[in-house]
Amino acid sequence: MARYTGPKCRYCRAERAKLFLKGSRCLSAKCPMNNPMESGLPGRDPKARTKKPTDYGQMLRAKQRLKRIYCMLEKQFKLTFNTAARMPGKTGDNLITLLERRLDNVVFRLHFASSRPQASQLVSHGHIFVNGRRVDIPSYRVKPGDEIEVSAKGKNMLVIKDNLSEVGKSGVASWLSVDVDAMKGSFNQIPERSEVRELEGVNEQLVVELYSR
Ligand code: SF4
Repeated sequence: MARYTGPKCRYCRAERAKLFLKGSRCLSAKCPMNNPMESGLPGRDPKARTKKPTDYGQMLRAKQRLKRIYCMLEKQFKLTFNTAARMPGKTGDNLITLLERRLDNVVFRLHFASSRPQASQLVSHGHIFVNGRRVDIPSYRVKPGDEIEVSAKGKNMLVIKDNLSEVGKSGVASWLSVDVDAMKGSFNQIPERSEVRELEGVNEQLVVELYSR
């Protein structure tokens, strides 16, 4: 599946928000969003856009932001939306839960990776097993009860060990559990939309309206 390989900080500048796509660098002083002249935030850079967005502009921004948080390209995102629209219940909620069930997202949330792009790379390089079988498809949809484990080779990788030290500081999402020593985690249940706190401020309803036009 095609993926974006250009500069990730460009996405944050476009969204005028930190999307945390580069792991620890995002929390350091090196993040360009800490620089008023680079961040694109209105009121800080005199050249920044200050015009009020149109309704369409707001819908487009909501879609772009959600798509970029999960590091997806348009075609893949639209396919996920179409699946969400066919499911019973609210399409916006379905969309978020489908995005949360992506294997690269689960690997990121289990702290095997420090960002979703890094998680996607770990998966596509064959470092992740699901229920004892190697899965190298970042968009693989995880089911409740699935066990996700780092490969034997991956267990010796310093980067994964470093990432897992984050579990002690921030824990894992309520619908997941992780065994740091065994480098293994479980996807216990499908999360409710309200549980996905990282996405507060993302209005998925605008995405539904955009694709329903
Ligand atoms: Fe975004 Fe991270 Fe780049 Fe900062 S360092 S602009 S948060 S991707």
